[in-house]
Amino acid sequence: MRIILLGPPGAGKGTQAVRLVERLGIPQLSTGDMLRSAVSAGTPIGLQAKALMDRGDLVPDEVVVGIIADRIREPDAVGGFILDGFPRTVAQAEAFDAMLAKNGSKLDAVVELKVDQEALVDRIVKRAKEAEARGEPVRKDDNPEVFKTRLDAYRTQTAPLSEYYVAHGMLRPVDGMRSVDEVTEAIRNVLGR
Ligand code: ADP
Repeated sequence: MRIILLGPPGAGKGTQAVRLVERLGIPQLSTGDMLRSAVSAGTPIGLQAKALMDRGDLVPDEVVVGIIADRIREPDAVGGFILDGFPRTVAQAEAFDAMLAKNGSKLDAVVELKVDQEALVDRIVKRAKEAEARGEPVRKDDNPEVFKTRLDAYRTQTAPLSEYYVAHGMLRPVDGMRSVDEVTEAIRNVLGR
């Protein structure tokens, strides 16, 4: 299955992606994780992305489209994948559709986690505190100030994707305000597996 997880930062995409990986046996492709690795490794892409990510802005479309084009060709992704954090703009979605068409494959579903915007800042503050308590480094963009920029980027650049995927008959909305297990169950229902 080829699945896109859509939803604002803090919606729980990462949490649900991990569960989907276990259940469906396909990899999670997170552009956020890939970009953070590039930043840590100090690659040219990482150097280009770092400042943008630190302030909560999006990395240029051509950069992430290039990363994903390479990643979906790797053997573990040939049978399917769960995209988390990509596409984030309509231009990325269009480039991705073209990529799939070229490979002779297609998308199965776009699962949108619907959450109240007010709940998101609380969730992100909680996530940062939990990471700290575990002795893990806190993401530089997980603070309320930068988070607002990320939410703005979502509202202006990513939210229009819902319409795009409705028009393509792909959108499967799920209530993301319920418990983690209930959301997992709702996703299972909309995917039919
Ligand atoms: P979130 O927790 O908001 O889902 P991610 O871990 O997916 O965040 O991404 C963190 C940052 O990486 C984003 O704020 C953005 O700067 C960059 N990024 C990740 N994916 C993309 C993408 N598809 N297009 C542009 N920028 C991206």
